[in-house]
Amino acid sequence: MRILLVEDDAMIGTGLQDCLRADGYATDWERDGERASTALRAGVYDLVLLDLGLPNRDGLSVLRELRGRHDRTPVLIATARDAVGDRIAGLDAGADDYVVKPYDPDELLARIRALLRRSAGHAEPAFEHGNVRIDPQTREASVDGAPVTLTAREWAVLQPLIARPGMIYSRAQLEEKLYSWEEEIASNAVEVYVHGLRKKLGHRFIQTVRGVGYVIPKQGGKAVET
Ligand code: CA
Repeated sequence: MRILLVEDDAMIGTGLQDCLRADGYATDWERDGERASTALRAGVYDLVLLDLGLPNRDGLSVLRELRGRHDRTPVLIATARDAVGDRIAGLDAGADDYVVKPYDPDELLARIRALLRRSAGHAEPAFEHGNVRIDPQTREASVDGAPVTLTAREWAVLQPLIARPGMIYSRAQLEEKLYSWEEEIASNAVEVYVHGLRKKLGHRFIQTVRGVGYVIPKQGGKAVET
């Protein structure tokens, strides 16, 4: 999952970026409204965490432009405690939710998970596949009932695959979920994490579609040759 963080305060931004990355989200950080608007036109984000008071262009204007082109990317607005009017204006402009600064990191992450779940149309959060069970909310996985711990980066690769079983993701698409633009990507990074996931979740849990990418087959679906 890839998040665009829009925040002009260096201290808050640094803290948030660390917090989001530690939780397994590839996070890009823009510090002004104009750059945020440009970044959003690329259409690669799963969620936007949007400050309203920004240099060059305010957050509301960025949000209105996004919704104006019918882009439904979930937007979580971050506002100051006393700015009730801002929050209302944000929601009216098409934001999905808001958090009040200074926010509790755990609450922020929970709201992000809720929005991502909603946007994926997940009514039932638990994912079960053969002897593997994964709760995307808590990120707890188990195999035959025995708990398995996944790293943040393994989770970043796994999340899109379990969100859409049967859908083949290319290595490049999974790389996108892993890192932000600024970071170096080892050419075999996805293979390394898929290898780790297979060791933990079973050899055939994630299947390779040769020359195309990776897939978790739909339950009852025909297994793809690996
Ligand atoms: Ca600000």
